[in-house]
Amino acid sequence: MTTPQTSDTNVDARIEVIQGDITEQDVDAIVNAANSSLLGGGGVDGAIHRAAGRQLLEECRTLGGCPTGEAKITRGYHLPARHVIHTVGPVWRGGEHGEAELLANCYRNSLALAAQHGLRTVAFPAISTGIYGYPLDEATAIAVRETRAFLATHPDIEHVTFICFGPHAYQTYLRALGR
Ligand code: ADP
Repeated sequence: MTTPQTSDTNVDARIEVIQGDITEQDVDAIVNAANSSLLGGGGVDGAIHRAAGRQLLEECRTLGGCPTGEAKITRGYHLPARHVIHTVGPVWRGGEHGEAELLANCYRNSLALAAQHGLRTVAFPAISTGIYGYPLDEATAIAVRETRAFLATHPDIEHVTFICFGPHAYQTYLRALGR
């Protein structure tokens, strides 16, 4: 007889944390921490556009940008990932300008878009924690809370990976997940 799992255990078993480069992930979709133009930028956005090739920029030009907290999907072109979900995180302005809700929306809307497209595996970078200056601890808590909540109600999303670009982010995510 197998021991029944609580839904929490089941959710956390579908969440992985790795230290690495999101452009190398072989998943249905990687999430891009884009800017609202969707026309490329620095950080993870620049790395994704370089690895995907210029066809990604051509498709992004047809999308008309993206408001903060929302998400849009493209193909992955030369990436191992089949799709890129572009979401725009909030710029940190001290924490009293709706940053937490906007960042939560990034995770919710990205995962909802993945589910709508029948995608099962998704990898996230630490949205807003680079150039946009969101404190890593607070951003990580939101990423983990929203991902757990979404997975609990969407069994169709099989696996979410948090890709940490360095040991500090990696340790922060492990701690937030109680690992
Ligand atoms: P934002 O403008 O949303 O802050 P950044 O790209 O500056 O976006 O940073 C978001 C996070 O992505 C940071 O934690 C940064 O260290 C990380 N990052 C940068 N390059 C990569 C990469 N190739 N793979 C995964 N994460 C990355």
